[in-house]
Amino acid sequence: MIKYKRVLLKLSGESLMGKQKFGIDPNMLSHYAYQIKALTEVGVQVAIVIGGGNIFRGLQASESGIERVQGDYMGMMATVINGMALQSALETIGVFTRLISAIEMKQIAEPYIRRRAIRHLEKGRVVIFSSGIGSPYFTTDSAAALRANEINADVILKGTRVDGIYTADPEKDPAATKFDKLTFAKVISLGLSVMDMTAFTLCRENNLPIIVFDINHNENLLRIVKGEAVGTLVEG
Ligand code: UDP
Repeated sequence: MIKYKRVLLKLSGESLMGKQKFGIDPNMLSHYAYQIKALTEVGVQVAIVIGGGNIFRGLQASESGIERVQGDYMGMMATVINGMALQSALETIGVFTRLISAIEMKQIAEPYIRRRAIRHLEKGRVVIFSSGIGSPYFTTDSAAALRANEINADVILKGTRVDGIYTADPEKDPAATKFDKLTFAKVISLGLSVMDMTAFTLCRENNLPIIVFDINHNENLLRIVKGEAVGTLVEG
């Protein structure tokens, strides 16, 4: 009983920080690795787009005098560091992986070749996409939307610290209520933020469902692929 057979998981850099203020918490890495492994064990094909915000963000850099484009490339490098760490955590527990980089770095990652990435998924390897889309002025959310469409993923799973999309930020407003389901149009009319607009538009135009869910809850990923109502589903 698997509802989503090929998923694109978006893991932000921040989700790797755990309680730290910066960098990678090894406990978080292993926490995600086990959850991802559980998906592969039920036959789900898993692609991951990894962020870099725990190490570097282009926009912040530009405020401190580093040119925007240069800062964005530095941010993309950060995603490769995270991708290598996640690859290592997965391989430690016996999951076969391929790290792919949108910027060529062939000593450590494969170049992005769409058909090859799909082949890896078909063979049951977890594919980790790093370097975003390889261009400045984008985010890894955009990379998630683009790659999910390219590899014909059934859904984008956007892991966050909260368990879905709320009427307001639940960490600030205790009266905020959660949506179980939303249409793309409703997200826009209510001015809710799910992903950045570039990424969101790409999903909307191609009718690619997005599920926003609490990534820190152990069973969530598995429950989602089995079709349980977890988090908030945006579609239609
Ligand atoms: N970035 C970019 N192009 C991309 C993806 C990422 O320029 O296609 C840069 C951008 O500077 C961004 C940084 O890499 O701030 C880290 O990615 P992101 O902020 O999306 O990471 P997350 O918020 O998911 O941790």
